[in-house]
Amino acid sequence: MVTIIGSEELTARKSHLCDSCLRRIEPGARYRRARCVDGGDAWTWKTHLACQKAGEILWDRDISGEEDCLLNVCDMDHEDREMIYAADPETFHEVWPDRPAPGQPKPVQ
Ligand SMILES: [Zn+2]
Repeated sequence: MVTIIGSEELTARKSHLCDSCLRRIEPGARYRRARCVDGGDAWTWKTHLACQKAGEILWDRDISGEEDCLLNVCDMDHEDREMIYAADPETFHEVWPDRPAPGQPKPVQ
Protein backbone atom coordinates (compact mmCIF):
# COMPACT_ATOMS: atom_id res chain seq x y z
CA MET A 1 0.00 0.00 0.00
CA VAL A 2 1.50 3.28 -1.11
CA THR A 3 1.35 6.17 1.33
CA ILE A 4 2.00 9.74 0.28
CA ILE A 5 3.84 11.37 3.14
CA GLY A 6 3.98 14.83 1.65
CA SER A 7 3.59 16.79 -1.52
CA GLU A 8 4.47 20.25 -2.67
CA GLU A 9 4.18 22.42 -5.73
CA LEU A 10 7.51 23.61 -7.09
CA THR A 11 8.99 25.49 -10.01
CA ALA A 12 11.37 23.31 -12.01
CA ARG A 13 14.92 24.62 -11.93
CA LYS A 14 16.10 21.94 -14.33
CA SER A 15 14.18 19.65 -16.60
CA HIS A 16 12.53 16.58 -15.02
CA LEU A 17 10.64 13.64 -16.39
CA CYS A 18 6.93 13.60 -15.61
CA ASP A 19 6.11 10.24 -13.99
CA SER A 20 2.56 10.38 -15.30
CA CYS A 21 2.86 11.26 -19.00
CA LEU A 22 6.59 10.49 -19.37
CA ARG A 23 7.23 13.82 -21.07
CA ARG A 24 9.61 16.50 -19.93
CA ILE A 25 8.79 19.06 -17.29
CA GLU A 26 10.60 22.09 -18.69
CA PRO A 27 12.68 24.41 -16.50
CA GLY A 28 10.46 27.20 -15.19
CA ALA A 29 7.28 25.09 -15.29
CA ARG A 30 5.29 24.44 -12.14
CA TYR A 31 5.13 20.81 -11.12
CA ARG A 32 4.07 18.68 -8.19
CA ARG A 33 6.47 16.54 -6.20
CA ALA A 34 5.12 13.92 -3.84
CA ARG A 35 7.06 11.73 -1.45
CA CYS A 36 5.77 8.19 -1.40
CA VAL A 37 6.57 5.20 0.79
CA ASP A 38 5.58 1.59 0.42
CA GLY A 39 6.99 -0.82 2.98
CA GLY A 40 10.74 -0.24 2.92
CA ASP A 41 10.72 1.69 -0.34
CA ALA A 42 10.58 5.46 -0.64
CA TRP A 43 10.65 7.59 -3.75
CA THR A 44 9.57 10.92 -5.15
CA TRP A 45 6.89 11.23 -7.77
CA LYS A 46 7.00 14.24 -10.09
CA THR A 47 4.17 15.28 -12.36
CA HIS A 48 2.93 18.22 -14.38
CA LEU A 49 0.11 19.96 -12.55
CA ALA A 50 -2.23 19.20 -15.47
CA CYS A 51 -1.33 15.48 -15.37
CA GLN A 52 -2.07 15.43 -11.66
CA LYS A 53 -5.40 17.12 -12.26
CA ALA A 54 -6.31 14.68 -15.04
CA GLY A 55 -5.62 11.80 -12.65
CA GLU A 56 -7.74 13.43 -9.96
CA ILE A 57 -10.68 13.90 -12.35
CA LEU A 58 -10.70 10.14 -13.00
CA TRP A 59 -10.10 9.39 -9.33
CA ASP A 60 -13.31 11.27 -8.50
CA ARG A 61 -15.08 8.90 -10.90
CA ASP A 62 -13.63 5.82 -9.20
CA ILE A 63 -11.01 5.20 -11.85
CA SER A 64 -7.58 4.61 -10.39
CA GLY A 65 -4.29 3.09 -11.43
CA GLU A 66 -2.24 0.33 -9.87
CA GLU A 67 -1.76 0.23 -6.10
CA ASP A 68 -4.68 2.60 -5.57
CA CYS A 69 -2.76 5.54 -6.99
CA LEU A 70 -3.94 8.06 -9.54
CA LEU A 71 -4.05 6.65 -13.05
CA ASN A 72 -1.06 7.74 -15.09
CA VAL A 73 -1.65 9.82 -18.19
CA CYS A 74 0.34 7.31 -20.27
CA ASP A 75 -2.15 4.59 -19.22
CA MET A 76 -5.30 6.56 -20.00
CA ASP A 77 -7.44 5.29 -22.85
CA HIS A 78 -9.91 6.96 -25.17
CA GLU A 79 -12.79 6.77 -22.68
CA ASP A 80 -10.68 8.27 -19.91
CA ARG A 81 -9.72 11.15 -22.17
CA GLU A 82 -13.37 11.75 -23.06
CA MET A 83 -14.23 11.95 -19.37
CA ILE A 84 -11.46 14.41 -18.70
CA TYR A 85 -12.52 16.54 -21.64
CA ALA A 86 -16.12 16.54 -20.43
CA ALA A 87 -15.03 17.53 -16.92
CA ASP A 88 -12.35 20.05 -17.77
CA PRO A 89 -11.50 20.87 -21.41
CA GLU A 90 -8.65 23.13 -20.32
CA THR A 91 -6.84 20.32 -18.53
CA PHE A 92 -7.41 18.05 -21.53
CA HIS A 93 -5.70 20.50 -23.86
CA GLU A 94 -2.84 21.04 -21.44
CA VAL A 95 -2.18 17.33 -21.11
CA TRP A 96 -2.69 16.47 -24.78
CA PRO A 97 -1.91 19.61 -26.80
CA ASP A 98 -1.68 17.59 -30.03
CA ARG A 99 -4.93 15.66 -29.71
CA PRO A 100 -8.23 16.86 -31.12
CA ALA A 101 -11.00 17.17 -28.55
CA PRO A 102 -12.98 13.90 -28.24
CA GLY A 103 -16.06 13.88 -30.41
CA GLN A 104 -14.59 16.55 -32.66
CA PRO A 105 -13.52 15.80 -36.22
CA LYS A 106 -9.81 15.12 -36.61
CA PRO A 107 -7.87 17.97 -38.22
CA VAL A 108 -7.46 17.49 -41.97
CA GLN A 109 -3.90 16.46 -42.80
ZN1 LIG B 1 2.94 15.12 -17.39
